[in-house]
Amino acid sequence: MAAKRKPLIAGNWKMNGVKKEARALTGGLAKLMAKTKRPSFEMLICPPAPLLDFCVRMVKGSGVQVGAQDCHAAVAGAHTGDVSATLLKNMGCGYVILGHSERRTDHGETNKQVKAKAEAALAAGLKVIVCIGETLKERKAGQTLSVNRHQLRGSMPVGATAANAVIAYEPVWAIGTGQVATPAQAQEVHAAIRKALKSKLGANEGDKMRILYGGSMKPGNAVELLALPDVDGGLVGGASLSVADFWAIADAT
Ligand code: PEP
Repeated sequence: MAAKRKPLIAGNWKMNGVKKEARALTGGLAKLMAKTKRPSFEMLICPPAPLLDFCVRMVKGSGVQVGAQDCHAAVAGAHTGDVSATLLKNMGCGYVILGHSERRTDHGETNKQVKAKAEAALAAGLKVIVCIGETLKERKAGQTLSVNRHQLRGSMPVGATAANAVIAYEPVWAIGTGQVATPAQAQEVHAAIRKALKSKLGANEGDKMRILYGGSMKPGNAVELLALPDVDGGLVGGASLSVADFWAIADAT
């Protein structure tokens, strides 16, 4: 029998928001979460690094968790502008997103670097959300499954378990474009990722590891995506900047 996986609804704020918006978002979500006695989902927000401490304080005791959008692979040292996993953990973060396609594109991050960052994050006691996904060109060339398998193999940290790692399938062509993957497209890739995880981690661990879908997830398409057998939550960009939309997505689990 397939494992029961608790859905994770993670909001990636990207480089959006100042304190005023962060206060409204965290306040709104914390209030809704506090009213939900036993949420059937885990809720996570990932604000820009300078807002992490503020957001951690704002959601304290509500059940909403806070994560970062990146970390450095080194424990500390001469890396101007970067943030260590140790500091993120120390600030109250539970998770860190790694290998988002915008970091792979904007900063040229490779699978090897993503893997090193993820290993540093696990060593610091953070949970990792490792992002993979194909471009439109790769999809059109029939390379979707091979690209995702390759990224998964190259980016997965040593020591990953279902308890400390989550995979996010984010087709690059669907991120921020309003062009969402169809349920069939999403399930095809999620099933391939599940198969690869089982073969790498063993049937039990691979079955338990959560695989999120990301790419233009909105309240209007969340119900059918989140109902798919291998979709265990969402990594949500634009819609996570609205309390009503983000909550509606979580409510669709
Ligand atoms: C993302 O940034 O991870 C993302 C999925 O963005 P959006 O929901 O806006 O497509």
